[in-house]
Amino acid sequence: MTRKIIYLFATSFLFITITSAQKLMGFTDANAAKQIAWEKQFDAQLSAQNLDTWMKFMSSHPHHVGSPHDKANAEYMSGLFKQWGYQTEISTYYVLFPTPKTRVLELLGTKPYKAKLEEPSLPEDKTSGQKSEQLPTYNAYSADGDVTAELVFVNRGVPADYEELEKLGVSVKGKIVIAKYGGSWRGIKPKVAYEHGAIGCIIYSDPADDGYTQGDVYPEGAFRPKAGAQRGSVLDMPVSPGDPLTPNIAATKDAKRLARSEAKTIMKIPVLPISYEDALPLLQSLDGQVAPPSWRGTLPITYHVGPGKEKVHLKLEFNWDVKPIYNVIAVLTGSEFPHQWIIRGNHHDAWVNGAEDPLSGMVAEMEEARSIGELAKKGYKPKRTIIYCAWDGEEQGLLGSTEWAEDNREELKKKTVIYINSDGNGRGFIGAAGSHSLEPFFNEVIDDVKDPQTGVTVKERRYAKDLLDADKAKRAKLLGDKNIKLEALGAGSDWSPFLQHMGIASIHLGYGGEDPAGVYHSVYDSYDHYTKFGDPGFAYGIALAKTAGRFTMRIANADVLPLDINSFYKTIAGYTSEVKTLLDDSRSETEVQNKLINDKMFAVANDPIKKLVIPKPKETVPFLNFSAFENSLAQLKQNSEELQKLYKEATNLPAQTQTQLNEILYKAERSLTQPDGLPRRPWYKHQVYAPGFYTGYGVKTLPSIREAIEQRNWKEAQESIDVAAKTINAYNGEVQQALNLLKKTF
Ligand SMILES: [Zn+2]
Repeated sequence: MTRKIIYLFATSFLFITITSAQKLMGFTDANAAKQIAWEKQFDAQLSAQNLDTWMKFMSSHPHHVGSPHDKANAEYMSGLFKQWGYQTEISTYYVLFPTPKTRVLELLGTKPYKAKLEEPSLPEDKTSGQKSEQLPTYNAYSADGDVTAELVFVNRGVPADYEELEKLGVSVKGKIVIAKYGGSWRGIKPKVAYEHGAIGCIIYSDPADDGYTQGDVYPEGAFRPKAGAQRGSVLDMPVSPGDPLTPNIAATKDAKRLARSEAKTIMKIPVLPISYEDALPLLQSLDGQVAPPSWRGTLPITYHVGPGKEKVHLKLEFNWDVKPIYNVIAVLTGSEFPHQWIIRGNHHDAWVNGAEDPLSGMVAEMEEARSIGELAKKGYKPKRTIIYCAWDGEEQGLLGSTEWAEDNREELKKKTVIYINSDGNGRGFIGAAGSHSLEPFFNEVIDDVKDPQTGVTVKERRYAKDLLDADKAKRAKLLGDKNIKLEALGAGSDWSPFLQHMGIASIHLGYGGEDPAGVYHSVYDSYDHYTKFGDPGFAYGIALAKTAGRFTMRIANADVLPLDINSFYKTIAGYTSEVKTLLDDSRSETEVQNKLINDKMFAVANDPIKKLVIPKPKETVPFLNFSAFENSLAQLKQNSEELQKLYKEATNLPAQTQTQLNEILYKAERSLTQPDGLPRRPWYKHQVYAPGFYTGYGVKTLPSIREAIEQRNWKEAQESIDVAAKTINAYNGEVQQALNLLKKTF
């Protein structure tokens, strides 16, 4: 025992003598030391018990928009934020929120079946029996409708699936389609079905994706039981999120509202989500050709494309009510730069009890806010203003964050330095997506947080995982580079109004990958499920609070904002070569395909019994002119490399110059927006990041160029390349200004 103690002393002495002070991006050495000391206290104050207590209360009843517990949760959080020293208010908006009045789905004919559309309560899950308070399984913003038609299976229901159907000679015109969840955001499925002439859409969860094929089902395991169904919105969010009756303006009580028939983002056909128990008889009734191998799920049937001999009847009616939503906004005013805002948000509304989605992220944010509040009482003074937000109505289409952003747009554009988002969280690996100027700073932060299960940093753990998951080529690349790449942000949570509408640098943070997620948007996303399978002991809730807390506090207190323009340059240069390759590949594929058609290869090779349709030749792909865009990128390369060298000295700038530099740095992201937005969706102003028009969640980088090429709209592709050149030139202007400031001093 004694010997061990001596050994410990010896090593800790050694440690002290050989380590030099830790450096932080954008801090002087002296300020970094102070910051790190505060962060130690911040960590020490975090308590997993708080996360448990708050989640238990907030998930104790269904808390969707319009429910009593949604309002109760907002008031509960507001009370806590006030107690922690924040100036807190509840900001209320009034949004269109449809709830089901009638839901009928039946298979007619010789083997009739009436869908149950019901998630049974489980004795092992205490809140699953709160029947009178639960929203039934449905898709919000589906159209009302009463349709009877033949059924066609369309795989995931994305555009590529309809190309396949065309080859098979199957049309969905006048039919009802049935699509599997996954492969795109759910709202894409009815939109694409409608564009192809379908009159109804059913979406089901195949057991291959989150049911028994993945593992034991709830309550034995975590995965989706046979009667579990995924609720969710089908608002046309790639066009614009937010209240469909008040696009672009705040949904205040007396706002000028569109008539429902004028709203562009409400689906045109009835849509209903169902369980795999209800899907089985429908799929079983289909005739026609056997579905292509990649379309088949793991139900015990041969999957056919259809149509079936028997018709399906789908009847849906909704209450189209306007309901209040309650955002909680909690402010800690900055001591030196009160007009520079760090905004940190997570939504608080759920489809039902929503323990994982969204409360696992919400309670981590609350604990983070509590700990910063405690520090402030002990003398910690954030230089910039920190604003904690709990959004309502996220599930229906980012309603709370979008309406608040539209209400405060001009002020937010002027003052917001960064938006930091989280949503569901669980056991596993750090995941992040965001503006690429934040990538080096993100790497610094995750190198400072320890993984609760292994004790290495969360960066090391993620890196090890990436290495193991990578294919041969990617692994070779990763071996020389420990930098964790930020993903780009598409749609999916509350960053959209900040990043994509207003051009505010944003990041989304969360842990996961070891938290089986088979109860998403069902009554089984409960406290009982989460504490057993999601993050037992809330260790990763604490890890999230440490990660997002460091993000918030370091940006609030940095001498020079930790934004790296060169990192943005490298990323956009990569996207540019991607879209050029996309164009070249499209050209050579078109040439080959047209030759195969002309040489009658399809006619000879196709199985004559199957009566497959021979594709038509396509227009050849032209060459497009990227030179203006590439010239602007070359200029950006030069500027951003120069700025990166001078940035290291920027903490020595005189205070006033530093303030000017910071303002240029955080406003630079705004210049990546264009006032007219993207083609056919003016709400989306950012020219580098947007949700895909036909993928939804899936991001499209350089969206207008990429989508025009994908949709073979060559004129628009060329116009979009020219807009991109103009955008990068504007961004270059900002970088040049920053350079001028630095050069004047050094
Ligand atoms: Zn969520």
